[in-house]
Amino acid sequence: MELLSKIKNLADTQPESLAFISQNDEISYRELWNKSEEVATYILQLELTPSSPILIYGHMEPQMLIAFLGSVKAGHSYIPVDTSIPMERIVKIIESSKTEIVINVTNQPFFFENSSIRIININQMEVDPSLPVPMDNWVKEDENFYVIYTSGSTGNPKGVQISANNLQSFVNWMVEDFHISGGLRFLNQAPFSFDLSVMDLYPSLASGGTIFAITKDMIAKPKILFEELKKSNTQVWTSTPSFVQMCLMDPSFNEKLLPYLSVFLFCGEILPVSICQQLKERFPNAKIYNTYGPTEATVAITSVEVTDEILLKFQTLPVGKAKADTQIVLLDENQQLIPEGKKGEIIIVGPSVSKGYLGQKELTEKAFFTYNGMPAYRTGDAGYFQQGNLFYKGRMDFQIKLHGYRMELEEIEHHISKSKYVKSAVVIPIYQNEKIDYLSVLIIPAEHSFEKEYQLTSAIKKELGEVLPAYMIPRKFSYHEELPITPNGKIDRKKIREKVLL
Ligand code: AMP
Repeated sequence: MELLSKIKNLADTQPESLAFISQNDEISYRELWNKSEEVATYILQLELTPSSPILIYGHMEPQMLIAFLGSVKAGHSYIPVDTSIPMERIVKIIESSKTEIVINVTNQPFFFENSSIRIININQMEVDPSLPVPMDNWVKEDENFYVIYTSGSTGNPKGVQISANNLQSFVNWMVEDFHISGGLRFLNQAPFSFDLSVMDLYPSLASGGTIFAITKDMIAKPKILFEELKKSNTQVWTSTPSFVQMCLMDPSFNEKLLPYLSVFLFCGEILPVSICQQLKERFPNAKIYNTYGPTEATVAITSVEVTDEILLKFQTLPVGKAKADTQIVLLDENQQLIPEGKKGEIIIVGPSVSKGYLGQKELTEKAFFTYNGMPAYRTGDAGYFQQGNLFYKGRMDFQIKLHGYRMELEEIEHHISKSKYVKSAVVIPIYQNEKIDYLSVLIIPAEHSFEKEYQLTSAIKKELGEVLPAYMIPRKFSYHEELPITPNGKIDRKKIREKVLL
């Protein structure tokens, strides 16, 4: 695979250059390559079921990268799982993906009761790779490179399979269209279990750059975050708009803090005009790009540079044009093409579209198909074209983005409704200035012995904390004797929304 060959080449030509820096640790290209050879050799000795995925558990440790490359060099895709994901959810991922081993890169033990799964700490792999891992073993072409789990409406996360070809198509686009020349310093904000992290990880590794990782501890302590940002020498900034908005709240977030910053790359949610205006004032020499795409089409497939002209011209920013190897088609509910200017479902057609959800035939068939002989994905996003630019017009279902995190309201409702304290529940997103500010849940409670509502809320929240990541737990809880129903017997979300907003 071209990407892996490039990294190998960099390990030879610039062995001492740093590939990755995190708060307390760093790793050079040579170390990354050699240590991932050891991991690959170890994995090959285990004789796992061919191409079975390997779950890699950790946060922003350099060992995460070593384990990723070790897996793919041994011919296995990897499933990145951040330490913020609760154990019950991890168990579901292990079971549905048929993972045979977990590589734990943290210093904490990883408890898992199923004895048929091997749990290996990366520091305890003892091998002596006297020979390099043959390239024939590397993941190639249509074989999976990674599988990223996203929220699913049935209550279970679904695993998006990204092949070597999918990833190569994405990396080629990034390196060519965004003028990513060698040796740049990239900022990594997103944990590896979100595909936004791929936007800096592989373009950086393919071009001999260095990734500077932001950890959850830094995000929790803005003072430390800003001290680290100052040290980072970031040139390419990749984050959600929500993250940069948080940084902008501090007036010291400007050119003085990050004097080398030349490119902002945003993806994952609506990029508000106001954020771009502030960034242009504070970083007059940096370019800003809005990019769009779902995990299912490998990170992003459209882009636009947000110039002064674009800011003057549009009240809502476009998401731009598709990359050269990709086509965007807008279809109506009868699967007919939509004329320019009209709104339709965004269909992505091209080589970075995934083959589907791992082990989920039905879900895959619903969302993935072939269009003019190419892989195609129904995004569930509404959009329209204006003067050749694609504009995003919200979702067609209950998938939402909150602070950059993708989630299905139905998945949250499923878990709340399973609580012994709950008869039924509806989750409503609360908007502020066209952006979701927080989630509110309306609950018909089951019988319980709590005297006060806040006690009931904390009991439900405690249960939820075991199955859902913190960012999916609603902020506001309210209790009702009944919830409005539509004439055909469904929960009337429209009425509920009106009720919540009163
Ligand atoms: P994820 O798979 O987490 O990347 O989420 C994909 C979804 O995020 C898309 O289907 C859109 O709904 C939304 N999204 C991604 N990029 C943008 C953008 N630039 N503007 C608005 N929404 C976006």
